Amino acid sequence: MADREETAKPEIADSVAVLLPLPLAGAYDYAVPAHLTVRPGDVVSVPIGRNRRPAVVWGAACGEVAAEKLKSIEAVLPCPPMTDTMRRFVQWVSDYTLSPPGAVLRMALSVPDALYPPKPVTLYRLGREPAGLRMTPARQRIIGRLRDGATLDKATLTAETGTGAGVVKALSDAGVLAREQAAPEPPFATPDVSLAAPALSEEQRRAVAGLARDVKQAAFKVTVLDGVTGSGKTEVYFEAIAQAIAQHKQGLVLLPEISLSAQWLSRFERRFGALPAVWHSELTPATRRRTWRAVADGTARLVVGARSALFLPFSGLGLIVVDEEHEHAFKQEDGVSYQGRDMAVVRAQLSDCPVILASATPSLETTANVQAGKYHKAVLHRRHGTAELPEIKVVDLRKDGPGRQQWISPPLKEALRRTKEAGAQSLLFLNRRGYAPLTLCRSCGNRLQCPHCTAWLVEHRHCNRLQCHHCGFSTPLPPGCPECGAPDHFAACGPGVERLWEEVRDFMPDLRAEIISSETLTGPGKAADLARRMEGGEIDVLIGTQILAKGHHFPALITVGIVDADLGLSGGDLRAAERSYQLLQQVAGRAGRAERPGQVFVQTVMPDHPVIRALLSGDRDRFIAAELQARRQAGLPPFARMAALIVSGRNHAQAEAAAARLARSAPHGKAFRILGPAPAPLSLLRGHYRYRLLVIAERGIRLQTVLRPWVNAQKPPSTVRIKVDIDPYSFL
Ligand code: ADP
Ligand code: ZN
Repeated sequence: MADREETAKPEIADSVAVLLPLPLAGAYDYAVPAHLTVRPGDVVSVPIGRNRRPAVVWGAACGEVAAEKLKSIEAVLPCPPMTDTMRRFVQWVSDYTLSPPGAVLRMALSVPDALYPPKPVTLYRLGREPAGLRMTPARQRIIGRLRDGATLDKATLTAETGTGAGVVKALSDAGVLAREQAAPEPPFATPDVSLAAPALSEEQRRAVAGLARDVKQAAFKVTVLDGVTGSGKTEVYFEAIAQAIAQHKQGLVLLPEISLSAQWLSRFERRFGALPAVWHSELTPATRRRTWRAVADGTARLVVGARSALFLPFSGLGLIVVDEEHEHAFKQEDGVSYQGRDMAVVRAQLSDCPVILASATPSLETTANVQAGKYHKAVLHRRHGTAELPEIKVVDLRKDGPGRQQWISPPLKEALRRTKEAGAQSLLFLNRRGYAPLTLCRSCGNRLQCPHCTAWLVEHRHCNRLQCHHCGFSTPLPPGCPECGAPDHFAACGPGVERLWEEVRDFMPDLRAEIISSETLTGPGKAADLARRMEGGEIDVLIGTQILAKGHHFPALITVGIVDADLGLSGGDLRAAERSYQLLQQVAGRAGRAERPGQVFVQTVMPDHPVIRALLSGDRDRFIAAELQARRQAGLPPFARMAALIVSGRNHAQAEAAAARLARSAPHGKAFRILGPAPAPLSLLRGHYRYRLLVIAERGIRLQTVLRPWVNAQKPPSTVRIKVDIDPYSFL
């Protein structure tokens, strides 16, 4: 493949620095035995403690340990070396997130098996007739199993026939079984760019022309592809991908809900005649291996994946696309906490390639970067074809509210009925799983709470259990109140999707309603099944959480009801209004995507809230401008830098004391302010007590240089953990 990213020139040394995929402070020196030649980027095997691990040669030795005391590199592993670009990326992410470089490297070496070539597998089939051979029942079972021409590997053969390896060997030695090598793993098909692309509209064509030129020029550039839902953003970036593939480069597309992207995959296959390589956490080990190696050797030409795909070993990256760039799903909270969208921009910069950020509702961070002239913008103003944007109607719940213990207003109910009569489909959106968000005892008022978290337990009626949505704790609904013992006196407070389902059933029993949440839509198979049943008209009403907001394209879906538009509007989250707007806009965008016009009912008690007004008027840019102005005045991101420090531990007093010590030793400076420590809103999570501090700095400050010495100087007890979250998105 042309344009390989370069690996540094050979440099023979008697010792080198080696980075292990472990959360250690930095790289360690290892000796290079005379029979080995290593270069930076080589993946090697080194001893550490009593184990042996794969690691990457990082650079010149730091020389802190005397040469004769160093342990030796044992071998250079037979896999492509880590590119210079990738090593710089690992280092960059580590420096930015204040995570140990080895913790980042671990993400880049996430498939240790793939560092070795595939093991050859021997298959057995029947050979010559067993004439004259003594027959035992075990031998007979093996011969019987292969009678129909089957070829099996030894493990499968012995398992299926209940025999041992010795029997297989004996038959093989006698020539009764013939051996053959299994075919190597099938390569990924190359997307066919010669297939016909759809006829583009004028504005689509203009966007494609610009992006295709960027791909050809192979220089770093960020383009925000800003277009209403259904305007053809996907169609447009497909053409940019076609250009990258035509240039013999690799492409990477990040999607927020990759495991549910069945529709995306079939669209890709229709356009390019081949499926892309897919990357997410639920792949089988064999597929992970095969994909990782194919990305490294350049035969996987397009990867569509979750944020972790950024750490795949691309050898000639020519384009990155971040679809739904505003989605918070790109932020990783556990382990190394990084913002996938932002790191995609960094990865593109280091790889000298363009990156496309696509969204109908770009984030404020991205908008500010466009305004500052750092990012370019390509706009699609209109929905494709005859599809119009849906009509939006506000239902003021103070006037048109539903009856007691009901959540669907009369106008929305009427719309559900009419939609069904018209042979079309509806969607009710409520971002709450389960039956009711809170369950309390009617006798004593006790609220059922998670024993490990500051969180209510949520009743799930379909499985008759209470669940904590933060730690996963789950318990059967108790027969009586755990506090006062009153039997069977629980009251459900508020609605979840299960309760809405009941309401729909009671209202119109012949409506076929179906609940869709992260519990029911658990993978690609389920998503494909849902799409099939929606297209076949087997469902009248979808009742779902935010999992329904993204990606899905259901042509007969014309009515959307947003059951509680106020749900996300309050709370201490700086992005609450922005996020609400994005989510509501996204949900509304599910309606009327084909010929029939859509309608959206927005139920609210705050019809004058700026978010609701922006939805109603369709004046997104005015809303964004007002939000940006408010953030600027408050000195908040994207006009400031922010980091959260979370101090947690099982021992309450120790965690609290460590947080207080951290605050006392805080550096002083005019360019930043420090808020807290304060108990986190989730002050108990999985049995850990949590305190938070927030650091807010002027944009010109490099926050990491303030944080690093401060946090590194802390010596909390071993039971206490201090986590740094740069650019936090969660404030729980
Ligand atoms: P977005 O990504 O902006 O939501 P899509 O790319 O999914 O928009 O386009 C919405 C629908 O319109 C899809 O079914 C897509 O196939 C169709 N579409 C968009 N542009 C074209 C075009 N130029 N020719 C044919 N179909 C198109
Ligand atoms: Zn819990």
